[in-house]
Amino acid sequence: MTFSDVAVSHQPLSDSLLFHEFVHVEQYRQLGISRFAELYVRGFLGGGGYDGIRLELNAYSLGARSESAPGSPFSVESEVGSWIKQGKF
Ligand SMILES: [Zn+2]
Repeated sequence: MTFSDVAVSHQPLSDSLLFHEFVHVEQYRQLGISRFAELYVRGFLGGGGYDGIRLELNAYSLGARSESAPGSPFSVESEVGSWIKQGKF
């Protein structure tokens, strides 16, 4: 779990989990803590649980993209910004 720019875990962080938490750090950076928390809770309550949290969907989809094409770098900053601009959270 990530709180602003600190990731905490009960287990050693794998590369994929570290990438996932890094996406959350970028989401926090661009949205701010209050907006991130609002969107996270709204997603959880309105979407029927963890799977309804769009912030998680964004982090998982970028993680899948990174793992499926490791030789094709992309900007997490741009991708998160694009989701914000499009109102996808
Ligand atoms: Zn997550």
